Amino acid sequence: MTARVVPGLFDYRLDPQPGDVIVVWFSNGAASAIAWQETLRRYGNLCDVRGVNNPVQEEDQDNLRFGDAVASWLQRPLIRHANPDFPTGSADEVWRRERAMVFPHGAPCTRSLKKLAREDYERRNRVDWHVLGFTVEEKARYDRFVLTERSNVLPVLIEAGLSKQDCLDRLIFEGVRPPRVYGEGYPNANCIGCVKSQSPTYWNLVRRTRPDVFAARARLSRELGVRLVKYRGELIYLDELPPDAVGGRLKTMNVECGVFCEEVEQATPTIYEAGCGL
Ligand code: SF4
Repeated sequence: MTARVVPGLFDYRLDPQPGDVIVVWFSNGAASAIAWQETLRRYGNLCDVRGVNNPVQEEDQDNLRFGDAVASWLQRPLIRHANPDFPTGSADEVWRRERAMVFPHGAPCTRSLKKLAREDYERRNRVDWHVLGFTVEEKARYDRFVLTERSNVLPVLIEAGLSKQDCLDRLIFEGVRPPRVYGEGYPNANCIGCVKSQSPTYWNLVRRTRPDVFAARARLSRELGVRLVKYRGELIYLDELPPDAVGGRLKTMNVECGVFCEEVEQATPTIYEAGCGL
């Protein structure tokens, strides 16, 4: 096993030891599924490897099927752990309770349903190592994360040289059907109608594929006075967005609302690029 160097004020070498607990934060995305498989392959005989998901109701129902399918493929249980303050994992409840949908650098749903859920799990359970779905094209993001968030993160996909597309290909090869939202054009398996997106292209995709979700976000954002979408350089209400408006290229599976997405938020305020030439 190769010793890894953890960058910091000083460098030191660490590796999982026998009996250590490694938590793979499974986000219902293809990358985190393969990260779980790779972690088992490398450390399964040495350590206690657990897959943990922080559920969010606003994700597509098919994500539940996908999580169960991955667990059954890997023959391990998938632990679902929610913030006890929001046991149903409802982002809608968070928005209503906090009277907010987005902050300048993030979203209250990320904080309550991902960050605080993860911290609650860590308080109640031993966690020696973390694994997230950082792929080979996300090396810079991984390095930043290790410096700013947690030093004990195992870059299993990066060390295996696996890209996001490789992860998707491997899942398909293994006969595990990916989350259906990928097939609908969504860039990741996050919530449908993610409030961190300001992209007209994204919101019109939601309007086309999930009109009920679009209508619900449009209603609540009016009620709370939140302009979610950027059109022609200005933030506007969803119900003001022309149905044929485009802009804000969907970055294919670029950023997931994962368990540590507070780090992502600092680096990338919106999930999708917005306002490209409108
Ligand atoms: S995916 Fe978007 S809407 Fe869902 S919890 Fe994360 S930030 Fe909130």
